[in-house]
Amino acid sequence: MACFECNLVEKGSAIAKEKHASAFLHVLPATIGHTIVIPTRHYPILEGVPDEAFENLAPLTKKISQVLFDALECQGTNILINNGTGAGQDSSHFMIHVLPRREGDGLHFGWRPQSFPEAYLNQFEEALKTTLQESAKVEQHHAVEALKTLKETESTRTYQIHHLRRIP
Ligand SMILES: [Zn+2]
Repeated sequence: MACFECNLVEKGSAIAKEKHASAFLHVLPATIGHTIVIPTRHYPILEGVPDEAFENLAPLTKKISQVLFDALECQGTNILINNGTGAGQDSSHFMIHVLPRREGDGLHFGWRPQSFPEAYLNQFEEALKTTLQESAKVEQHHAVEALKTLKETESTRTYQIHHLRRIP
């Protein structure tokens, strides 16, 4: 069965759309003008959304925010993604919320900053940078491998197997 947002797409009630993205007014808005921008196809979380779709989501989100500023003369917009149930996502369809904001509207997205020892933060940053670099290398390997696959030679296959074994 299609999810609620897939049904919205099916009904064709989008207020704006791009090839891979659609925008709808939220049926239970947090503020007037609360809009959701979703990939037209069903993807549960950000990590599953293909880059091609995200390339439509970003400009559509920007356009919606701009129109809300102009039409509502709001004082700001919050662009919000609840990515995963642990982050408060309550739909199985990935979405970007665009929330027009006004002083005294009663919404709060603040948090209290936490403090950690500097040595721990430095260690964490280094570990994260290493992980990101490794991740980029794996992606680069995939790209190289995809190109080599096109050649379909015996030596290419051996190279791929060699590298795949190294990827966790
Ligand atoms: Zn869906």
